[in-house]
Amino acid sequence: MKIGIFVKKELEDTDIPTSIISKINEYNLEFDQEEPDFVIFVGGDGTFLRAVHEYISRLDDICFIGINQGSLGFSSDFPIDDLDYLFSCLLEDDYIVRSCSLIEANFGGHILYAVNEVRIENPFHTLISEVYINDDFLENFRGNGLCVSSTFGSSAYNKSLGGSIIASDIEVLQLTEIAPINNRVYHSIDSPIVIGESSSITLRGNFDECVIGYDHLTTRMDASEINISLSEKKVNLVFRTEHSIVSKLREALIK
Ligand code: NAP
Repeated sequence: MKIGIFVKKELEDTDIPTSIISKINEYNLEFDQEEPDFVIFVGGDGTFLRAVHEYISRLDDICFIGINQGSLGFSSDFPIDDLDYLFSCLLEDDYIVRSCSLIEANFGGHILYAVNEVRIENPFHTLISEVYINDDFLENFRGNGLCVSSTFGSSAYNKSLGGSIIASDIEVLQLTEIAPINNRVYHSIDSPIVIGESSSITLRGNFDECVIGYDHLTTRMDASEINISLSEKKVNLVFRTEHSIVSKLREALIK
């Protein structure tokens, strides 16, 4: 079993990386950053996103295991102070794996993938975009931008935009509007829309000044159309067998 590690930037110079590598050796496992079977990441959901993008070309072959370190950590389920517990779960196959579909965005011959969401935003002027769901015209949107999130990403930026948190046992796409203009002249649906896993969203407009945000990353938009759907690419995330999404929600958002 080959294990890689990915540690939140702020923790790189602590003794956490070396203590995990010592445990890998102690359990006679192989430390391999290039072609790991498991990647242990230390941090929260932001660290998980960065770890996934680091290994984006090998996702089929990897399971990610999160050690929570001082953040909400919807993705990191194991405690830092009991590494033996994590390794015993691993060696005894005592864990569950949640496979989360990534979002795939196609525009101007490029393809990019996101765990949480893809956003198209105009930081300078009103974004004007035609919105289609499965090629059916929905609306002419005017506002700051549009966000398309996955089930996993529903508790991230989507939630701040008033979108719903989606239960982890269904795969959907959710479209939310960022500061829409709604008045006597301009109208948009002004509500999040949740669509099925085989549906897609197409946006068309003059996107010359627009930026595409995908997870923690950004790129310039250089096309007049973008198509967003759920990808066949999935990311595998390890949880403790006693993991409960409801208690995680309560712990992270209510307590
Ligand atoms: P970041 O610092 O990596 O993350 C910003 C916050 O979002 C952190 O508290 C992070 O949790 C949390 N987060 C990330 N993914 C989450 C998820 N799936 N469920 C619940 N919380 C989640 O910020 P970044 O580098 O700018 O962007 C990464 C992500 O942060 C984006 O994909 C976006 O969804 C989210 N974000 C949200 C807002 C907002 O809500 N207004 C603004 C910017 C970015 P941890 O503390 O556990 O890392």
